[in-house]
Amino acid sequence: MATMPRMKITYATLSADNEELQASFDTAVERARADLGRSYPMIIGAEKRTAVETFEDRSPIDTDLVVGRFPVGSRDDMRDAISAARGAYPGWRDTPWRERLAILRRAADLISERQFDYAALMALEVGKNRLEALGDVEETADLLRYYGDEFEKADGFVRPLGSLSPTERTRSVLRPYGVFGVISPFNFPMALAGGPAGGAMIAGNTVVLKPSSDAPLLGWKFGEALRDAGLPDGVFNVVTGPGETVGAELQENPGIDGMVFTGSYEVGMDLYRSFTKDYPRPIITEMGGKNPAIITRHADLDEAAEGVMRSAFGFDGQKCSANSRVYVEGPVAREFVDRLVEKARGIAVGDPTRRENWMGPVINQRALDTFEKATDEARADGGTIEVGGEVLRDGEAARGFYPTPTVVTGLPLEHRLFRDELFVPFLVVGEVDSLDQALAEANDSAYGLTAGIFSRDPAEVQRFLDTIQAGVVYVNRRAGATTGAWPGIQSFGGWKGSGSSGKSGLGPYYVQQFLREQSQTVVSDEAPPIL
Ligand code: NAD
Repeated sequence: MATMPRMKITYATLSADNEELQASFDTAVERARADLGRSYPMIIGAEKRTAVETFEDRSPIDTDLVVGRFPVGSRDDMRDAISAARGAYPGWRDTPWRERLAILRRAADLISERQFDYAALMALEVGKNRLEALGDVEETADLLRYYGDEFEKADGFVRPLGSLSPTERTRSVLRPYGVFGVISPFNFPMALAGGPAGGAMIAGNTVVLKPSSDAPLLGWKFGEALRDAGLPDGVFNVVTGPGETVGAELQENPGIDGMVFTGSYEVGMDLYRSFTKDYPRPIITEMGGKNPAIITRHADLDEAAEGVMRSAFGFDGQKCSANSRVYVEGPVAREFVDRLVEKARGIAVGDPTRRENWMGPVINQRALDTFEKATDEARADGGTIEVGGEVLRDGEAARGFYPTPTVVTGLPLEHRLFRDELFVPFLVVGEVDSLDQALAEANDSAYGLTAGIFSRDPAEVQRFLDTIQAGVVYVNRRAGATTGAWPGIQSFGGWKGSGSSGKSGLGPYYVQQFLREQSQTVVSDEAPPIL
């Protein structure tokens, strides 16, 4: 295993001039390439289960590369995984919480130790560049640490309440629900499997994970770290396969007590409606975004262009927090666009496991089709493609899915491309007359995940903070106009169509969502009572 660098890599890390870090990543990629194509089983209790059919997890960098082979799980496999999780629940629930935390903190340390190997596999699996992949792995470890620390800070969520009689004592105890289903997306394949599952397990629940079929490996690797840290069998289970069968069983099975879904609005809303059809069960849905940045005439335009470039094109615009629309005040619009275009032209696109490439491929052919359809539509509807609009098809790029960073101006603000989440490196820029107009446009959206502003005027900044409808907001952030949250630093959750709970991941109110309150009153003539 590679040694851990002393430099902590987060999504706000701008560059990595540390040669040791670069070399460690390069050798980890060599190891990962030598290890491609293995078959991975499902994890159901103590059992490593295969299936008659498998599917190939191919790299978007080069579709000739099979990253791994995974079982096409069935409804029966999912039922068995839920039974395994139910069987493990009483033991895990009754494990003293300090012991639970110790196991999950050990897992966090293992994930940090293996940061390079996991990140190299992730880069190959989903096409992240090295800093993004290293960040995703370290975020997973920090999520376990942060949720554990919050649980500890609350002393296990046991609080004495008042008393109306000398013989009566009451306390409030937050207790786990049972078994949580976790459905994770492709774009943060470790952090968004490990974060929700970690929150659930720290709170004393057991988990069944269904990872994205575009990126099952890193969820599986999270399970590997848990096992190596000594997590009892059955506490964390992994079933791979299509949403339509294993995902559907997960949402319909009454043995599931709660659910965390991260993914698109369409799938999330279906799940949200159907999961509570017969009786109430907690469900956290974190969904898409159409995240705006506002540039006022009082902005530092270089800072704005840099922040927008990083958030629009980082991981090819495939972050839920990606900046996909900009509202810029007329007097500074041209200069802002020119600076942004210059920065976008400087982006190297190609195999993201190579140090020189900042942007890699999009996840699959469907995403590439979305990109091409959007550029065609922009052109047809009178937009100007200021930069990009192309797909790389020469040489080795032909074996992957490589759009170029694209900025479009000149479309009406009510155009669909200002409204729909595309999840590709495609940014629309619209001119506005005032901050108020920009805020009205920004808020006129079904989504409310992240937003940013660039302005050096404190009154404008305050107005933005008071008015913007989004769960995560940034002001004058060169490291990313709308992206780059970190556990315990920025909570991360959506408002409106972007998220259901109002209590964000990565934040101080997250872990409580995996617990339900029990008020315990004990009357006893014998003083003192047990409470
Ligand atoms: P997706 O909705 O296509 O898939 C998400 C997960 O749902 C996958 O595991 C998929 O297999 C599963 N699924 C699909 N159909 C299902 C069904 N019928 N029943 C049960 N499960 C089913 O999303 P994606 O393409 O993997 O990820 C991108 C989307 O996720 C974007 O919309 C992005 O904004 C969103 N996202 C949101 C956040 C957030 O925190 N708000 C974070 C990351 C990604």
